[in-house]
Amino acid sequence: MNQGPAIMWFRRDLRLGDHPALHEAVRVGAEAGVLGVFVLDDALLAPSGKPRAAFLAGCLDALNEAMGGHLVILKGDPSIVIPDLARGINASAVVVSADFGPYGQQRDSAVEAILALDRIPLERVGSSYAVDPGTVLSDKGAPLKVFTAFRRRWEIIGPHVVLDAPDVSWVDFPSMATTSQIVDDAGRMRPQRFDGLDDGVTVGSFEPGEAAALARLDEFAGAKASYYRDMRDIMAEPGTSGLSPYLRFGCIHPRTALALVNGDDEGSTTFRSEICWREFYADVLFHEPQSARETLQPSLADLRWDDGEIAEGRFQAWARGETGIPLVDAGMRQLLAEGWMHNRTRMICASFLVKHLHIDWRWGARWFMDRLIDGDLASNSHGWQWTAGTGTDAAPFHRIFSPIAQAERFDAAGTYIRRYVSELATVEPPQLYEPGGGSGLLRPDGYPAPIVDLKAEREEALSRFAHARGRS
Ligand SMILES: Cc1cc2nc3c(=O)[nH]c(=O)nc-3n(C[C@H](O)[C@H](O)[C@H](O)COP(=O)(O)OP(=O)(O)OC[C@H]3O[C@@H](n4cnc5c(N)ncnc54)[C@H](O)[C@@H]3O)c2cc1C
Repeated sequence: MNQGPAIMWFRRDLRLGDHPALHEAVRVGAEAGVLGVFVLDDALLAPSGKPRAAFLAGCLDALNEAMGGHLVILKGDPSIVIPDLARGINASAVVVSADFGPYGQQRDSAVEAILALDRIPLERVGSSYAVDPGTVLSDKGAPLKVFTAFRRRWEIIGPHVVLDAPDVSWVDFPSMATTSQIVDDAGRMRPQRFDGLDDGVTVGSFEPGEAAALARLDEFAGAKASYYRDMRDIMAEPGTSGLSPYLRFGCIHPRTALALVNGDDEGSTTFRSEICWREFYADVLFHEPQSARETLQPSLADLRWDDGEIAEGRFQAWARGETGIPLVDAGMRQLLAEGWMHNRTRMICASFLVKHLHIDWRWGARWFMDRLIDGDLASNSHGWQWTAGTGTDAAPFHRIFSPIAQAERFDAAGTYIRRYVSELATVEPPQLYEPGGGSGLLRPDGYPAPIVDLKAEREEALSRFAHARGRS
């Protein structure tokens, strides 16, 4: 076995606390210490828009600071960069938190095979989930396709042990050359900020990094968790945890959140159930990797979507928050302004695109992945499929959100709409929900008339659904 340092290859686990893989790296590295590395991989950066890349940059800064400036950031193909580095320092092992996504699994197998040529093991310890995808199975050993059945089994796996941050003897980036490409790139990438990833982008109120994540969790567990069930749908209120960007990059592990929000009250129970949705979708994606891009329900694969110039124009209006439907515009503008959107508005905006504009959910999913700082393939694709009625369970296609009724119910004072749609800043409910009553009359200056008639398009959606079902 090699005697050099262990490499802790950080990916979606940008923290030091509650980190089983880091504990293992400390154990394996022993006297030689641990080299902490992150690889900027174009395959992952390309589909990520600037908001998420900017948040990532901030998380890397925070991690580097917590490591006393020892984080090494390399750029390139991990299957070249990681084995080169490991060979160069005679690494005892490369340790990672397992990745269960389609690309991550394939990347790690490629890295593992090349490392094996130098007899360096790739050790997978822990993952981004409280329960690893693929673990929760039926009595017959089959994947569970319905959330409630999954949750019942997921809940009884545990207890989940939360680990303190270990004492790590961090190793500096080696002065000897591994390959010239790595040394050049590392030299350039090592400074805390990096070109292009974070220029001029704001990430709403989300301060990146582990300390900010823990502070948010503490605030949620102490003050908000018990009201969570009642407040989580009120879009104008900060009634949810706001942990999604941190869970996305592993600034915090869901185990830590589950351990702290452990009460039997309705709020805490509902919160744990939401964490379970994240784990359920990761599990579905693990078993059905094609579901990231393909409709899960075969019977709806033939649903007719609009495309061409009119659909393109409507999609642009939706993405810019200029549909003339106030609640949809508020949600889409929140996304543009903050790189984040409230869960209820995500459902309403997604439903509007799919069921009132008849645009393929994949167009919307791509736009969300571009803009969201918490953009996550499993949660996003399956959040879209759930709303479109083409996914796992729960929301059948014919359940169509009315953006007017949703606003009356979950934004009763109109605070959320007025916060993001400045043209409506002085309009009160009920006119606020449907200024001009859909006719365009009495609309405030500069605010567009609705791009579609909600009632007519609802009927159209139902007819397309009946047609697709009839053919299957
Ligand atoms: C169309 C659509 C797209 C979505 N895309 C994403 C995405 O890319 N990334 C993402 O993390 N979430 C996504 N969600 C789920 C959900 O909207 C966000 O997780 C939630 O709004 C994050 O806010 P929060 O952290 O305050 O959540 P809280 O209400 O505080 O919930 C706690 C945690 O539970 C998890 N969670 C909550 N609801 C869901 C859900 N419906 N599905 C999966 N996990 C959930 C999240 O990790 C969240 O941080 C999407 C939902 C829809 C309808």
